[in-house]
Amino acid sequence: MTAGLDEKLEPIYQDVLKRNPGEKEFHQAVHEVLETLGPVLVKYPEFAESKIIQRICEPERQIIFRVPWQDDDGNIHINRAFRVEFNSALGPYKGGMRFHPSVYLGIIKFLGFEQIFKNALTDLPIGGGKGGSDFDPKGRSDSEIMRFCQSLMTELYRNLGEYTDVPAGDIGVSTREIGYLFGQYKRITNRYESGVLTGKGLDWGGSRARTEATGYGTVFFAEEMLKARDESLDGKTVVVSGSGNVAIYAMQKAQQLGAKVVACSDSSGIIVDDEGIELDRVRRIKEVERRRLSVYADEKKSAKYVEDGNVWHVPCDVALPSATQNELNGKDAKKLIENGCIAVAEGANMPTTPEGIQIFQKAGIAYGPGKAANAGGVATSALEMQQNASRDSWTFKHTEERLREIMVNIHKNCYETADEFGSPGNYVVGANIAGFLRVAKAMEALGLV
Ligand code: GLU
Repeated sequence: MTAGLDEKLEPIYQDVLKRNPGEKEFHQAVHEVLETLGPVLVKYPEFAESKIIQRICEPERQIIFRVPWQDDDGNIHINRAFRVEFNSALGPYKGGMRFHPSVYLGIIKFLGFEQIFKNALTDLPIGGGKGGSDFDPKGRSDSEIMRFCQSLMTELYRNLGEYTDVPAGDIGVSTREIGYLFGQYKRITNRYESGVLTGKGLDWGGSRARTEATGYGTVFFAEEMLKARDESLDGKTVVVSGSGNVAIYAMQKAQQLGAKVVACSDSSGIIVDDEGIELDRVRRIKEVERRRLSVYADEKKSAKYVEDGNVWHVPCDVALPSATQNELNGKDAKKLIENGCIAVAEGANMPTTPEGIQIFQKAGIAYGPGKAANAGGVATSALEMQQNASRDSWTFKHTEERLREIMVNIHKNCYETADEFGSPGNYVVGANIAGFLRVAKAMEALGLV
């Protein structure tokens, strides 16, 4: 995977490999950024001298801790949790917590690394961080989830603060978990410090449109990419992977903008509904009943469920990968292109493999990488922090309008930066360089810290 690195960047990458053995997702995320930074070092040789890239690749702080908890039958479980405080040049560390059995340090570091550039692209004052645990929430009762969250926060609280580190949700962590985490933080610190966590419930300091923000933002970004090619989502066929929070609201916004969403998925299979996915049904099955997507096809005649099916084999104009990392490989990318797909916007973090990205770029389709296309979630988290700081609460309409403006600006910034650095239409180059420049300039200004 080391092809294509500039000679100044190759040794930096080799050093990352050596210093972080076995963390393959982190290596992949670093490689993807370094691949695009060659022209930056030509224009800004001072960044090489002050070792900005090496500094960005090394987290400012990494916390790993034990989370003991007891299940409903009295059995004791030990999980491992992480918080990687990656970069605070632009603001307090900001990024979600992921609860999933696949979590280990390499996953949290890849997510934290991506978060630095994503957060920079929002143009809001937030640094980059990420956390999580190998805890598997599947099949756990509310009380088990609560005890786990309380145990985790009992250790994590000392590292957090509205000016220090502000977690939110990610896979396996939504308003319910944020509630238990916030409750425990409040109890231990004796402070109603709303700005210490985002993704809160609307009755206790949350922001309207935060739940919808990642999915909506991804679709706003897709719409901007299409606009730049004199196209629009209206009348397009869309396929979305996943059926969690990001996927559900990506589908909703795509439908509102006139697209027909024909397929989505969960970890066991896919559903295809040629009449268009009925969102209320997906939401009830996944969010309220917490059941499998196959139930959708049991209930609805026009739908077909394919166990272990590949959602990227369903023909579409626009694909929105919104499930998890490396869920779309080279073969999937080829299939999408063969079937006439013209745009891909990533709702998930790093869902497309390096081979997949290469195939999209060679084919010349509009490809929006996650750190740009899914920045709407964390951007709205920053808007939540803003509301908390001013003890205010904005309307849905106002918050969504701010989110749309932010996504339009991110698109414009990526588009223009790609042009400026000699890769017109390449949103990977645009996003990496635009994000990097903002962080690097702030790091220079703050001195060697
Ligand atoms: N986990 C989300 C992301 O990947 C949101 C982070 C946040 O809101 O802090 O950007």
